[in-house]
Amino acid sequence: MFCSCLGKQAPYSENDFQVDPSEGFGPSKLGVRTTVDEPLSASQAIEVLQAGNRRFVQGDAKAGGFDQRARRALASHGQRPVATVIGCADSRCPVEQLFDARPGDIFVLRNAGNTCTHAEGSMVGSVEYSVAVLEAKMILVLGHTGCGAIMGATKLFLERSAQKHIEATCQKDAQETTDQSTEGSESDKSRSTLLGLLDALVPVAEQACVQLGAGSSTEEIAAHAVKVNVWRTINFLLSYSLIIREKVASGEVELQGAIYNMSSGAVDFLGKSPKQAQLLNYDGHVVPSMGGPIRQVS
Ligand SMILES: [Zn+2]
Repeated sequence: MFCSCLGKQAPYSENDFQVDPSEGFGPSKLGVRTTVDEPLSASQAIEVLQAGNRRFVQGDAKAGGFDQRARRALASHGQRPVATVIGCADSRCPVEQLFDARPGDIFVLRNAGNTCTHAEGSMVGSVEYSVAVLEAKMILVLGHTGCGAIMGATKLFLERSAQKHIEATCQKDAQETTDQSTEGSESDKSRSTLLGLLDALVPVAEQACVQLGAGSSTEEIAAHAVKVNVWRTINFLLSYSLIIREKVASGEVELQGAIYNMSSGAVDFLGKSPKQAQLLNYDGHVVPSMGGPIRQVS
C-alpha cells in the first residue's frame, strides 16, 4: 500500500554499526532514529524537540555530524521519526535545523502557510501515514512570526473589507464598484493559484481581526492570525482524519501547536487546540477534495 522507500523494514543486527548514540536526536540504538528503536511517547517527543530547539538557539547544534554510517543505518533500517511537523515553506524556517535534528529524526511536511487549505488530501494522508505506519506520537503544527502567506491573506482581507465599507456607504455607486471589483480580482486572467491560496487563508485573518477588535494594525492582525492559523490546521486534521482523531482520543497521539520566532530562534509551544474536545466528536473521515463532506472548520 505504501511506497517502500518511506517505511523500509530490515532485521536489526547488533554488529551492523558501532555508533555512539549519546549525541543522537532522542534515544537510538544506531545513533540515528530507525525502526529498531521504540517510538517515543508524545511527552518524550516534546522534550526532545524542546531540547533540540534550545541547542539551536544557543548556537550549540549537534546535528551536523551526519555521516556515511548514519546514512547506511537509515537506508537499511527505515525511519522511526520522533515527531511529525507541519511547517511553513518559508526558507527561513527549516524545521530540521531549528530543532537541531538530522535526516530521519522528524517527519516534515511544509507548504506556504503551514495549512491544509490546499492539497489537503496529501497533507492529511501523509500525516496519517506518519502516525499509522511510522508510529509518530506527536504531531506538531508549526507557524512562525513574519509569515508572508498570512500577511498576504491579511492584506487581502483588509482590502476586501475596505471595499465592502465603500460599497455600504456609497449606495449610488455600489453596483458599479462591485462589478469592477469582480472584474479586477476574480476574472480568469487575473486569478492565480497563489491568489487562491491566500484567498483560502482570508478566514484566518478575518477571525484574527474579530478577536482583536477594532483599531488593530495590519501587522497586529497578521501576527495574531499566525496563531489562529495553527489552530485551524490542527482543527482540520482532527475534523477530517478518523485515524488521527481516534489516536488522539485514545491518548496514543497528541496534536499540538507551536510558533517559531524567527528573530530569537525560539519555538513557543502552544499545547492542544482549544477545540480539541469538541472536535473529537466530529464524524469526518475523508477531506472534501478526496470525496468527503464539506463542513465549516475554524
Ligand atoms: Zn510562512
